[in-house]
Amino acid sequence: HRRERNIASQVRNRLPQRMLDLLKEAGELGTDMGWEVYAVGGFVRDILLGRPNLDLDLVVEGDGIAFARRFAAKLGGRVKAHSKFKTAVVILDDGQRVDVATARLEYYEYPAALPTVELSSIKMDLYRRDFTVNALALRINPGRYGQLVDFFGAERDIRNKTIRVLHSLSFVEDPTRILRAIRFERRFDFQIGGQTMRLIKNALSLKLFSKLSGTRVMHELQLIMNEEDPLACLLRMQELGIMEAIHPLLSLDKERVQILTELVKVHNWYKLLYLEPPVVPWKLYLLGMTMGIKRDQIDQVTGRLHFTRREERDFFQLRDQIGEALMKLMGWKEGRSRLSRLYKILHPLPVEGILFLMARSRKEYIRRNISQYLARLQYVEIEVNGKDLKNIGIEPGPIYAIILDKLMTAKIDGRAETRHEQLNLAKKLNKELSARFEEESGD
Ligand code: ATP
Repeated sequence: HRRERNIASQVRNRLPQRMLDLLKEAGELGTDMGWEVYAVGGFVRDILLGRPNLDLDLVVEGDGIAFARRFAAKLGGRVKAHSKFKTAVVILDDGQRVDVATARLEYYEYPAALPTVELSSIKMDLYRRDFTVNALALRINPGRYGQLVDFFGAERDIRNKTIRVLHSLSFVEDPTRILRAIRFERRFDFQIGGQTMRLIKNALSLKLFSKLSGTRVMHELQLIMNEEDPLACLLRMQELGIMEAIHPLLSLDKERVQILTELVKVHNWYKLLYLEPPVVPWKLYLLGMTMGIKRDQIDQVTGRLHFTRREERDFFQLRDQIGEALMKLMGWKEGRSRLSRLYKILHPLPVEGILFLMARSRKEYIRRNISQYLARLQYVEIEVNGKDLKNIGIEPGPIYAIILDKLMTAKIDGRAETRHEQLNLAKKLNKELSARFEEESGD
């Protein structure tokens, strides 16, 4: 292990104590069981980049599942094992997840007089990965703790800010790596290396994307939408012709770039201010990516992305709801229109739909009022319930829903703020409504 740089001090400086304890425990357990254990992948990359990352991936040169079981028993937690893949997830009692994989020992027969050699199995494990920057391992066994295992020049690539594949068939093996290359490039503000870029272009000209399943494309798209700046990735995809390669209808025109720009702004604003309800980024951005696609063509896109029936129905419904809401919003004028009217327009929509409307509207006062809705209006509750209506002598029936709805409207518009006012209004509404009801049934 002569040439392995030791980065223990960086590890110590950049990780919380709890994580350092986990690494130490895992290394000690490995030694107890007679196996080398490594932290690998994005976790190690992010230590070198100085970015927080608490997704711990371990590789064990031995039996990963047996290791995971002992680890969980030692630290307190449970194990989900996948025996087919020889992997396990440990979920510790504090919620921390640790992924454990097995690096198989593989023996290679050499011809003639040469002996059978045992190739370092961590090397084989790392060689199957996507990019050099993700193909780093960190030794954690006592005595070797903190030694960086870098077979493929990852440290140099990190220094030079380069995304580079490990071999020339990488994208042929798995074209989704093209999307991953773009995602990491934009996230870290790196550059895809020259040879790697040629391999991407080659893969695209071979139309490897068309062979890729919709489920896998969608999964990578979702990861892109979860990034801090999804638009940067989408623009890069457009530049390389990947949008068209996924589906010609997804090509980003000026209008779509504009709405996506607004969506990123609105989404960041929302994340800063609110935790609830959470936004599902792909639902939000897919609305922008598919803007302008006609009703009778949109199923081509959802079909390509392999949406389930249910996902498709929900997505179409959301688009229809937004279309309807947009029409209604055009007629809503601040000061002249009631706030309860806005409430009724927005209330049926999920948060992604509401944020989309915000991004779509040019009028400052519409944005401001939608913001009011998210901050306050959506949580308004009235001070009376069905039981109260019964107590003041209103006969239970369908009239309850009507009265409660009208009380809500009145409260939002500031016409019945207190419980007292609401009870009075309920009595009055009951009289009016029952009179009207009798009139109608008397006809
Ligand atoms: P993130 O910071 O987005 O979580 P990550 O590097 O941890 O990035 P994951 O998607 O969690 O990425 O994958 C874990 C590891 O598995 C990666 O570091 C990478 O080495 C490997 N990997 C994931 N997907 C692929 C793929 N399609 N081909 C090869 N290796 C992959």
